[in-house]
Amino acid sequence: KDFRNNVKPNWCPGCGDFSVQAAIQRAAANVGILPHELAVISGIGCSGRISGYIHSYGFHGIHGRALPIAQGLKMANKDLHVIASGGDGDGFAIGLGHTIHSIRRNIDVTYVVMDNQIYGLTKGQTSPRSAEGFKTKSTPGGAIEPSLKPLELALTSGATFVAQGFSSDIKELTAIIEAGINHKGFSFINVFSPCVTYNKVNTYDWFKEHLTKLSNIEGYDHTNREEAMQVVMEKEGLVTGIIYQNEHAPSYQEQVPGYAETPLADQNLKMSEEEFNVLLQDFM
Ligand code: SF4
Repeated sequence: KDFRNNVKPNWCPGCGDFSVQAAIQRAAANVGILPHELAVISGIGCSGRISGYIHSYGFHGIHGRALPIAQGLKMANKDLHVIASGGDGDGFAIGLGHTIHSIRRNIDVTYVVMDNQIYGLTKGQTSPRSAEGFKTKSTPGGAIEPSLKPLELALTSGATFVAQGFSSDIKELTAIIEAGINHKGFSFINVFSPCVTYNKVNTYDWFKEHLTKLSNIEGYDHTNREEAMQVVMEKEGLVTGIIYQNEHAPSYQEQVPGYAETPLADQNLKMSEEEFNVLLQDFM
């Protein structure tokens, strides 16, 4: 159950992504699965390197496409626990369409977004999560448009699991990811993961000052979608914990006839030369 490998991450010292990696490793161990039962699929960005740093199956995909790969994998092999991961640029800019459709599809994949509100790999440009007025080399006069709101987006897209963590609170983050893996459907987990090199506004101290833990709100009911939306709007998205969960909604794959009996990975795909040639004709 040891999900550590011998690859040394090349993130900057202090990058929030280290804790996200550790939280995923701990959560997987806590759930009781083995490395060969987990696949971590990532997109492009500093955060995309994570699939190489965890002892499991891994696939470092292309920009914004971690989710299509992750969903295909889950459909091919129901026995794998699939975690997709990437940054806010990956999931909320080029990959936003996949994010929304994965949410509404409710396929059993855990999606961990490392949200640092900037493009780090390309040396600090404004991302869809940068705040209005945020100055970088791509918006020297300050970002004109407001920041994308991932929690509201997930809730209104029909998400059955919405949570948010902070990489500095690894205990809470581990518990959230563990719950996400155990959730039978799509789990959307946004994580504030500071970029210490390029984002000098949304720092660890800034988040410590602004975040509210839902566990500190007396009587908060995370099974109530309206209450979830209300708290997210009131706190301007600066909350951590499980924001909303519907444990009763059927997952996508549960509704696919034959999925449980013979997933693609277990099907006998042997075919005769004649059958193979017929298949090839489609590509000629
Ligand atoms: Fe992390 Fe930012 Fe460094 Fe990338 S540039 S590794 S996001 S601190």
